[in-house]
Amino acid sequence: MARREFLSFSPPCIGDEEIAEVVDTLRTDWITTGPKAKQFERDFTAYLGSQGALALNSCTAGLHTSLITLGIGPGDEVITTALTFAATVNVIEHTGATPVLVDVEPDILTIDPAQVAAAITPRTRAIIPVHFGGHPADMDPINAAARAHGLAVIEDAAHALPARYKGEYIGAGANPTSFSFYATKNLTTAEGGMLTGEPDFLDRARVVGLHGMSRDAWKRNAKGGSWYYEVVMPGYKYNMTDMQAALGLRQLQRLDGFQARRTEIHARYDAAFAGCDAIQTPTIRPWAEPSRHLYVLRLHPETLRIGRDQFIEELGARNIGTSVHFIPIHIHPYYRDKYGYAAEAFPITYSNYLREVSIPLNPRMTDEDVNDVIEAVLEVVEAYRA
Ligand SMILES: *Cc1c(COP(=O)(O)O)cnc(C)c1O
Repeated sequence: MARREFLSFSPPCIGDEEIAEVVDTLRTDWITTGPKAKQFERDFTAYLGSQGALALNSCTAGLHTSLITLGIGPGDEVITTALTFAATVNVIEHTGATPVLVDVEPDILTIDPAQVAAAITPRTRAIIPVHFGGHPADMDPINAAARAHGLAVIEDAAHALPARYKGEYIGAGANPTSFSFYATKNLTTAEGGMLTGEPDFLDRARVVGLHGMSRDAWKRNAKGGSWYYEVVMPGYKYNMTDMQAALGLRQLQRLDGFQARRTEIHARYDAAFAGCDAIQTPTIRPWAEPSRHLYVLRLHPETLRIGRDQFIEELGARNIGTSVHFIPIHIHPYYRDKYGYAAEAFPITYSNYLREVSIPLNPRMTDEDVNDVIEAVLEVVEAYRA
């Protein structure tokens, strides 16, 4: 029997602790970037064992700030994946550089290192891998190609908190790495992001992300709190408020609990769908400990009388919310028309897009919710078997 209430795909998981911390912030005289943003940066750094952290108002801001800090602009090329959210590629366009899309690995749907290497030209300045669904991209060959050609690697870690690659947390290394705290992500501040990387890089990124105001000038000229500052470039307004940081601080304390629940649900889905010939379950490489941000199941089209779109409608009719990650970049009109891409230009991205469905996976789900999702998926499969 179908469930009575609609199951949201990814509702936020906000508790009394977060609410109290936000209210506390509102009762102080410091509501924008201040002590709580600093504290959140310190706690985030400690959690990942990163070299530092810069709190910003989105992951998009972190990616854009990274490109600007590296001096990337017109005439430059930046290699990234065709299977990502628009923000990853939009920020490259914002700098005036040219995005160069490449296809993904068929099992884990992250950027294909061999195709990255093949796409490098004398104009290439950076590579932006995306840790799709929270499964790390295969970073060793990507970093090796970058080192060999003197390129930067900026990691889109919007999904990857907390995820490990060969035992090390994503965000713990030297690459600029941008996390998202958007409402649907594993940790949320409603809107927000965190950039990790080397301390020198983050110092420069902090200037880029706050109007181009130099703190060094501030320090140089400070006489017990000077009014003086210097604008050293036309920077952006990307800082995180203390109200957002208040949410983040408390969410971070609950992250391991969230993660344990995500892992449980992921395992229950794996077990429930393992014997179903119509469904391909997610692959986890031996070196990966994914954040399990998404559960992307892929349909085997030859086993069903209906396509992915109707599969989603059938789940909706059974009150199960779903999503699709992602509509490939190269079929969006702006990118398709500007660069003249055919849909089949990235065949692995495109063919997987046509058969993927993301089902609910979040710590708010009860065992009953999980059962309802499993039941609905298997019921639709049986109802429309070819
Ligand atoms: C959500 C998301 C972003 C953007 O994050 P914001 O914090 O909303 O800017 C970037 N890349 C990917 C892959 C995402 O899923």
